[in-house]
Amino acid sequence: MKSFVATLAFLFFISCNVEDDYVPFQIEQVFSNTLEQTIKVDIIYIQPSVVSNQSSYNLDETDFINNLNGSFFHRYGIGLEKGDIAIMIDDELYDLRDNGGEETRVFLAQTQNSYNKNRITIYIMKRANTLTIAGIGKDQRVLITDEFLYTPTAPHEIGHSLGLYHSTIEGNIMSKFRPHMRKDFTNEQVDKIKNTMKKMEI
Ligand SMILES: [Zn+2]
Repeated sequence: MKSFVATLAFLFFISCNVEDDYVPFQIEQVFSNTLEQTIKVDIIYIQPSVVSNQSSYNLDETDFINNLNGSFFHRYGIGLEKGDIAIMIDDELYDLRDNGGEETRVFLAQTQNSYNKNRITIYIMKRANTLTIAGIGKDQRVLITDEFLYTPTAPHEIGHSLGLYHSTIEGNIMSKFRPHMRKDFTNEQVDKIKNTMKKMEI
């Protein structure tokens, strides 16, 4: 028990990369036909150079993007559109277990030549191949572990990738704590996201 408590304290102590978001949540789906700002989202699966059976992903990308739109983005006039789907072979990024504390640096270094600056790129990796991270978001790029795709960690990291910082408001999508309660953006955050998207357009 003692070590369990210690582990929890450790998890909460680490910054934004560690987000325990396993608690299932229910959120009303809202879809809109009048979107103010839309952006393409490319999805890249991280694979090792030697592919094992365990490395396969089973994601319906259309459903994933739909869920993000309905649960988190359309209600603010923001739309995500499915872009290109690709695979990236990268042994260093595939298994981050030896890179504790360095995940963000490794992620940004390994992906600097594989993303489109006019889109959001979501890199998907296996949860089993990191010790503690749920996701990372920065500079139009999101790294997310497969077990967190349908949790509020996904819009949280997308928020980071579009320039948002952490919020102290409970229930805010950018809140660092109680990830399972995250569901809203503030008007200020929505404006910032839309401004970032406008700048990203060609
Ligand atoms: Zn964060």
